[in-house]
Amino acid sequence: MLKQIKGLHHVTSLASGAQSNNDFFTNVLGLRRVKKTVNFDAPDVYHLYYGDEHGTPGSVMTYFPFPHAARGRPGAGEVGTTSFAIPKGAIPQWVERLSSLGVDGLDTDTRFGESRLLFNGPDGDGFALVETDDGRAPWAGVSEDAAIRGFHSAAMRLASADASAELLKFMGYDEIGRDGDVTRFAVPEGNGADVIDIEAVPGASHAQQGAGSVHHIAFAVENRARQLEVREALKDTGYQVTPVIDRDYFWAIYFRTPGGVLFEVATNEPGFDRDEDTAHLGEALKLPAQHAHLREKLERILEPIGG
Ligand code: ZN
Repeated sequence: MLKQIKGLHHVTSLASGAQSNNDFFTNVLGLRRVKKTVNFDAPDVYHLYYGDEHGTPGSVMTYFPFPHAARGRPGAGEVGTTSFAIPKGAIPQWVERLSSLGVDGLDTDTRFGESRLLFNGPDGDGFALVETDDGRAPWAGVSEDAAIRGFHSAAMRLASADASAELLKFMGYDEIGRDGDVTRFAVPEGNGADVIDIEAVPGASHAQQGAGSVHHIAFAVENRARQLEVREALKDTGYQVTPVIDRDYFWAIYFRTPGGVLFEVATNEPGFDRDEDTAHLGEALKLPAQHAHLREKLERILEPIGG
């Protein structure tokens, strides 16, 4: 069993518009845009990153906005709900805030004894705010007694849960409980974004990816040495893992899980301040060296993002 994985690093989803996406995560949820760059594999599409002040691993929600992309169709084989941690007692403030800003899908429930506020993102993305005791510092986009501390968890909807449960255990997660059709896993000594849920949806049709769908979830490892250990162990277990890829702000490997969800393992190094001061994170369009020659064209074709 692996010991190198320390919780979620980031969650990456698809959107239909850059401005609406930016407004939702900064103005509505109060996160900070910590990087404005492009999809390194398709540079005519943005890659926008939102998180806490530094873009600390475990707090970073990222998007590929494809202009006018059709919405995804929810189903099995995807992350259905991405949850953020908020302080205990903060749900009423968030209900008022989200309803006054026209956010839809608001609903409250309790899962594993924690109060939860469900809501939809701008493309129907499935999100929740979960009340927890959490020592992580918030980005002060909303009042500090309510602000998001980072991810709480990601919940995968799977037609068949067993193989993915085994994989999570191999990755260092412990099964910590069951609540109806949901099995909860947590990684010990994680970064705060420690929980993965598996929702069993036997017989559900396969999800169709589009705007509002999660593209992949990334797990955090401290550094490149730990990442190579994880890569070797996954390969030895029979997973097809990509080579290590330089994403400028972290190093990445990817592999497809038995339930259909794409997993990434990303390093905490070097971080989002490698090419911008912390005070100005996310302001300028940053391009990786291999796409620097495209700047003039990209600045012309990418949707301008104001505010
Ligand atoms: Zn990623």
